[in-house]
Amino acid sequence: MNTYSQNITFARVEPPNWWVGFKNDTLQLLLYGKNISAATVEIKSPAAEVLKITKAHSTNYLFVDLRINASEPADFDIILTAQGRQVARYNYKLFERTARPQGFGPEDFIYLLMPDRFANGDPGNDYERGYNDRVDPTDPDARHAGDIQGIIQHLDYFPRLGVTALWLSPVLENNNPSYSYHGYGITDFYKVDPRLGSNELYRDFVRQAHRRGLKVIEDVVYNHCSINHWWMKDKPFEDWVHGSGTYQNYHGSVLLDPHAARRDRTEFLDSWFVPQMPDLNQRNLYLTNYLIQNTLWWIEYAHIDGLRIDTYAYCDSVFMNRLTARVLEEYPHLSILGEIWFQKASLIAPFQRGASLPASFHTNLQSVTDFGLYYAIAEGLNDEDNNWRHGLGKIYYRLVEDYLYPDPDNLVIFIDNHDVERIFTSLGEDVRRMKMALTLLMTMRGIPVMYYGTEIGMTSDGKTDGDKRKDFPGGWAGDKVNVFTGEGLTQPQKEISDYVQRLANWRKGSEAVQRGRLIQFIPRDDVYVYFRVLDGQAVMVALNNGEYVRTIDYGRYNEILGDYNYARDVVSGKKEDIKEIKLAPYSARVFELVQ
Ligand code: CA
Repeated sequence: MNTYSQNITFARVEPPNWWVGFKNDTLQLLLYGKNISAATVEIKSPAAEVLKITKAHSTNYLFVDLRINASEPADFDIILTAQGRQVARYNYKLFERTARPQGFGPEDFIYLLMPDRFANGDPGNDYERGYNDRVDPTDPDARHAGDIQGIIQHLDYFPRLGVTALWLSPVLENNNPSYSYHGYGITDFYKVDPRLGSNELYRDFVRQAHRRGLKVIEDVVYNHCSINHWWMKDKPFEDWVHGSGTYQNYHGSVLLDPHAARRDRTEFLDSWFVPQMPDLNQRNLYLTNYLIQNTLWWIEYAHIDGLRIDTYAYCDSVFMNRLTARVLEEYPHLSILGEIWFQKASLIAPFQRGASLPASFHTNLQSVTDFGLYYAIAEGLNDEDNNWRHGLGKIYYRLVEDYLYPDPDNLVIFIDNHDVERIFTSLGEDVRRMKMALTLLMTMRGIPVMYYGTEIGMTSDGKTDGDKRKDFPGGWAGDKVNVFTGEGLTQPQKEISDYVQRLANWRKGSEAVQRGRLIQFIPRDDVYVYFRVLDGQAVMVALNNGEYVRTIDYGRYNEILGDYNYARDVVSGKKEDIKEIKLAPYSARVFELVQ
């Protein structure tokens, strides 16, 4: 017994610190170390008291429930003893809460980037001891050595482009032997990947972003971890993850289908996402406490403004509601976006907070992903015909379905992302159609997100994920093309980039386009016109998805145009007679209406 106790060690305490002043004053620590379950845990401080100690299936874990009594910053020792002898000690710190999340909304223009593919600001961290995935910028699946320092170095680029918020794909450790660059295979929930930077650097990045008026959205993954996560070799409980051997059917429809077979539901919820990503069992309460506290920890540690929840529908809904409710209880102004990937509004809408279809379903998601609009734009702008369910009609009909959403203004809208073909490729690299798509993105109701590189019409030449995630030109030493300086950009790239910059910066100051009511007209003669109207301000957006020059039919839009005489083109700045507005073939125009 004596030798046994001498072998007790502390390897991890998670969360590694906490804060005073949370509404919920309890905390559940995970203690990990060799034979740790043989120890007793004591705290001899008025700052905190032990409520309960739970042994797990593995003898190398203890879960310790604490009540935080301190109301001011404090620290205390967690003392492990065995046979009356102290075997280990950990000094635990309680800090003052300082995070004030700003949240995000329709006033924002969000930029999504993958840190490994954006800019290499620190060649010194390209190779890190103990991290074996290869670095090879010519291999789309390998690491390309981009990092957080690279984003910090180029922070001035974003406000210039008109961006107001940054969403980074996950930055936590992905110590996987291959295919680790994307960040969604987490191996440590409390550690930024050293090839991207450090926890301190990430916190500094958020601070510097805030200084430039940029909000930061953290991409969080609750559905799965990596098979190389440190706990996979020694799980605390046998049911920490679901059993392996079965894989997702990826049909989230089963959650809503009134006729769904039980087998299909179980397969969707409790199977592994892919062989490298075990499905976390969100019905294990120790795991759920772990993930909830981990979320609060990052918000308070790094001062992030919003969360984007990966693979939301795949998670246990009871757990997700508990997690989001707890986050919003502590941070009412933080925004939460759930990734809900369906084509149809009827399947996405039930996931938005306040939805009534079906009545039994509810979430705390302020925002969900408008994949329906994405598909309508990417497919519709390629159609020859614009009637009924074709072409611009696709977009029109998608927006009709907004009646299903409790809050269409808070849908996140996009024209591509890291998981789909790049929009410039979808549109046949046609600059005219590209500008139409960008116009829709910047003027439609909702919260626009732009994927890095879309501002210069980056392409995805193949179908693999790597093809959609090429390096941002200018982020690597020796790049001949540099988006940050404009050097080496082709004429079409410049044209697209100028267009984004123009519209995005105008959008920042247009309340009508941010919050105005959307009024749309049925597309006719290849022309689709909609308005954004707010307190006497009106914005008119007109798209011509056909081969003829068209004149805007003043009479048809009279219910809005009747109050105005002129329209100011927000791109050229020129004022035009409202009765004489022309649309070139395959073009989009945005106007502020003036009397
Ligand atoms: Ca690097």
